[in-house]
Amino acid sequence: MSSLSARRLLRTLVWPNWRSHSSKPAQNVHLSKPGNGFSFELTDEQKEFQATARKFALEEIIPVAAQYDRTGEYPVPLIKRAWELGLMNSHIPESCGGLGLGTFEACLITEELAYGCTGVQTAIEANSLGQMPVIIAGNEWQQKKYLGRMTEEPLMCAYCVTEPGAGSDVAGIRTRAERKGDEYVINGQKMWITNGGKANWYFLLARTDPDPRAPASKAFTGFIVEADTPGIQIGRKELNMGQRCSDTRGIVFEDVRVPKENVLIAEGAGFKIAMGAFDKTRPPVAAGAVGLARRALDEATRYALERKTFGKPILEHQAVAFLLAEMAMKVELARLGYQRAAWEVDAGRRNTFYASIAKAFAGDVANQVATDAVQIFGGNGFNTEYPVEKLMRDAKIYQIYEGTAQIQRVIIAREHLGRYKA
Ligand SMILES: Cc1cc2nc3c(=O)[nH]c(=O)nc-3n(C[C@H](O)[C@H](O)[C@H](O)COP(=O)(O)OP(=O)(O)OC[C@H]3O[C@@H](n4cnc5c(N)ncnc54)[C@H](O)[C@@H]3O)c2cc1C
Repeated sequence: MSSLSARRLLRTLVWPNWRSHSSKPAQNVHLSKPGNGFSFELTDEQKEFQATARKFALEEIIPVAAQYDRTGEYPVPLIKRAWELGLMNSHIPESCGGLGLGTFEACLITEELAYGCTGVQTAIEANSLGQMPVIIAGNEWQQKKYLGRMTEEPLMCAYCVTEPGAGSDVAGIRTRAERKGDEYVINGQKMWITNGGKANWYFLLARTDPDPRAPASKAFTGFIVEADTPGIQIGRKELNMGQRCSDTRGIVFEDVRVPKENVLIAEGAGFKIAMGAFDKTRPPVAAGAVGLARRALDEATRYALERKTFGKPILEHQAVAFLLAEMAMKVELARLGYQRAAWEVDAGRRNTFYASIAKAFAGDVANQVATDAVQIFGGNGFNTEYPVEKLMRDAKIYQIYEGTAQIQRVIIAREHLGRYKA
C-alpha cells in the first residue's frame, strides 16, 4: 500500500467522515459546539484524535525522544508517521485535500504530541505556522498549489519573519523586496527559522515600501517562496538549549526572484497577515506548553510515589504533596486557557486577547512545573539519565517564540485597555 493510501485509511479509521468536514469556522462550529452551552465533553471525533495522538506519543515518540535530544537529529521517521496518522497539517482545508480541522482539535493533538517530546511537536507545529498565512490570506491557486502538495507527501514549510536585528519589533525587519517587472527581488537575512533547513517553501515577510515613515500596515508584503529558488543560502543548524531535534536556522536571501503570483493578498498587506496568523497558532503553542507541563507533573508524581526519605514515600511529605497540587492546578488552568482561545477563534470571533493569555500563561506554567519536577527529583532531576532536566530545558522556548512572555503582556494590556477606551 502506498503511504498516501495508508494515510487515507488511517485518517478514515480515525475519523470516518473526515472528508465531509470543512475548515471554515462556521462549518467547524459543530466540532467544538460553540453556542450549545458550556460543556467540557469532547465529541467522539475529538476523543479519537486525542487518543490517536496519545497512543503515538506514548508508543512511538517517548521511546526515542532522549536519543533525538542527544543527537539533535531531525526526527524524520516520527514526522512521516505523524503525517500518515493525520496528526500533521490538520487545518489544511478540505478543498486542498486536508482534514480542515479547527484550532480546538489542533490543540488537543498538539498537547498529546508535546507530552511525548516538544522538539518533535515544534517541528510539526512550525508547519502550521508556515501554512497559516496561506490559509488565512492565500487565494485558491496559492492554497491548492502550496497546501495541496503537503497533503500528498510529508513536506515541511517555515515562517520566515524574525531577523538578527528584529524579533519582537517585527516592523523593524530589514529584508527588502523590490518589484521588477512580473517578479519581486528579495534581499535580506532571516534568523531562528524553525524547519529552516527542511522546508519545501517559506512564508516570508519583507519590506516593500522603502519609506521609513510608511505605517507597518502598508509597508510590508507577505510572499510564498519556494525553498529551492536560486539565491537562498541556509545557515547551520543552531545548537539550542532545548527542543534540540527541531531544526532552527538563519537563512540569507540574495537576489531571490519570486513571481508576483506568490504575493499574499496584495503588496502592503503582509504585516497584518503575519500577525493575524498568531491568533490561530498561539493556542496550539499554549497546548504544547500544557503537554510538557502535564508530562512533568506525571513524571514527578510517579517519582514521588516511589522515592522514600525518612521512612516514607516523599509524596507523604506535605511540602511535596502541595508542590504537586500547585503543579496540577497550573496544568488544569493552562489547559482551560488554550481551550477558550481555540474555541473563540473556531466560533469565528476575534481571539487575540485570549490567544495571548493562553500563550503567556501556559508558557510560564510549563517553566514553573518543569522546574518543580526537577526539584521533586532532587539530585536525579539534575541528571540526564532522568527525563525532567530535558523538560526544563525544552520549556524555556515557550516564553520566547511566537511572541515573548513580555510581548504577550503588551498585547493583553492593549486589548484589555482597548475595551475601556472603546
Ligand atoms: C528556537 C526558536 C525558534 C524560532 N522559530 C521562529 C520561526 O519559525 N519563525 C520566526 O520568524 N521566528 C522564530 N523565532 C524567533 C522568535 O519569535 C524571537 O526570538 C522572539 O520573537 C523574540 O525576538 P528576539 O529574539 O529578537 O528578542 P528581542 O525582541 O530582542 O527581545 C529581547 C528581550 O526584550 C524583551 N522585549 C522586547 N520588546 C519589548 C517590549 N516592547 N516590552 C517589553 N519587553 C520587550 C523581550 O521580551 C525579550 O525578553 C524562533 C526563536 C527561537 C529561539
